[in-house]
Amino acid sequence: MSAPLTVAVDGPAGTGKSSVSRGLARALGARYLNTGAMYRIVTLAVLRAGLDPDDAAAVAELASGVDLAVGFDPDEDLYFLGGEDVSVEIRGDAVTKAVSAVSAVPEVRTRLVDRQRELADGTVAVVVEGRDIGTVVLPDADLKVFLTASPEERARRRNDQNVESGLPGDYDAVLADVLRRDHLDSTRAVSPLRAADDAIVVDSSDWTQSQTVAHLLDLVEQRAGASR
Ligand code: C5P
Repeated sequence: MSAPLTVAVDGPAGTGKSSVSRGLARALGARYLNTGAMYRIVTLAVLRAGLDPDDAAAVAELASGVDLAVGFDPDEDLYFLGGEDVSVEIRGDAVTKAVSAVSAVPEVRTRLVDRQRELADGTVAVVVEGRDIGTVVLPDADLKVFLTASPEERARRRNDQNVESGLPGDYDAVLADVLRRDHLDSTRAVSPLRAADDAIVVDSSDWTQSQTVAHLLDLVEQRAGASR
């Protein structure tokens, strides 16, 4: 019997990566691991401790002791800090603003990458979503997808989501935030955002979520066919 499938889905903010990765995990009956949420939990711990997210030494020290736990179910958001469910709080503005700085700290990355490798150890099928999964965390993943869309399309989708969830719409501010995070994530010294050499780049600008999931399922099928 072949080993359980491991899929890495990387890409910038706002591509619909989470929804697409969840949909793919669901269709494959696989686990789903959202690594961005892990960086967000550490960021929340940093903010709650009253630390400056740009103080790399203080962030590194705190990160070494953060007690975090994450769920694997594509249909349920379960993210814990010190046993408390923080699934909603980690999506808030304060965390979103500070997370790029926290995730640029090398000690934070080393700790979380180790955890991610333990959680996706190849014993069960898993779809792992992030920025550096194909390049750093799981370089031997069976399928690596780099999901992109134009910045304008990503900002439009984010802004629509905000409006749907009752927040005021502000497309220009959302676009500015998308561009700011792209820049920070792709220029940081450790594990910058980039497609792995063997990743398949998928531009979802003109596709719905379900069209994108269907495309990824085709890619999984092609991979499986090629290794049979
Ligand atoms: O995926 P999400 O937008 O929730 O990720 C939040 C932030 O966490 C990203 O902007 C990035 O700074 C960081 N991140 C990372 N490496 C990952 C996943 C997320 O640096 N594998």
